[in-house]
Amino acid sequence: MTDFPPGSVWLVGAGPGDAELLTRKAERLIGEASVVFHDALVGPGILEMAAPSARLVHVGKRSGRHSKDQATIDQLIVDAALAGEKVVRLKGGDPAIFGRATEELDACRAAGVPVRVCPGVTAASAAAASLGASLTLRGLARKLTFVTAHARAGEALDLDWSRLADPEATLAVYMGKAAAAEVSARLIAAGLAADTPVALVESASLPTERHFNTRLDLLPLAARTALGDGPALLLIGAAMARPEGVSAAVSQMAERQS
Ligand code: SAH
Repeated sequence: MTDFPPGSVWLVGAGPGDAELLTRKAERLIGEASVVFHDALVGPGILEMAAPSARLVHVGKRSGRHSKDQATIDQLIVDAALAGEKVVRLKGGDPAIFGRATEELDACRAAGVPVRVCPGVTAASAAAASLGASLTLRGLARKLTFVTAHARAGEALDLDWSRLADPEATLAVYMGKAAAAEVSARLIAAGLAADTPVALVESASLPTERHFNTRLDLLPLAARTALGDGPALLLIGAAMARPEGVSAAVSQMAERQS
């Protein structure tokens, strides 16, 4: 029994960019698809895994440059499946994290099209790996929060800053580059220390990857000057101190506990 009959859809996580970070299942599904609808953030080499006969359709959205709106994408996927195609909808990272997966799942279900999800490595995991850091830290960062700082044009960010300003959490801010100044000011105003460690990671897992360590009050400057045009993640919290700082904090914690 195949898990990918004609007329069905897989939402597939393409991971953070490096083709080797794709799951084996994702690679197989891409190879079996007759059509692949993909985002702008799908890494190099991944689309080459599709069969030579497969159609590759770019439906990418990047801030400010919406090539296709979500309803159009939903419709394209459903129409292709109803026409008997084997449809892969390939999304950067994990489809279930800031990936508009629900809209596409709902559209398929409403049309009676079988749809499943293949997870992927999310940007926060890739960013931590490239820093050689852990997102959680025993006793110091017991909580990991994924948040998007993407606001509609002209609107302020609608986030609960007092909850986000948690010194025992690591905050992973997706789509946060443009909002870096607001994120910094609001978190400090909500009580998070100005010297809270911050790591900026751009194009994690790709050859163009860059990372930069700074502190919360200096984040606006760093986001303006240290980053290029690639997708970037802001990681905020004690776990993002440079390795020496993290090791010192962990041993202090261990001493206090013994
Ligand atoms: N579903 C994706 C996230 C989509 S939102 C995932 O799970 O990773 C797009 C945002 O993800 C970008 O604005 C950026 O903040 C982040 N991102 C995606 N790929 C990245 C990468 N290789 N390096 C750093 N950040 C990345």
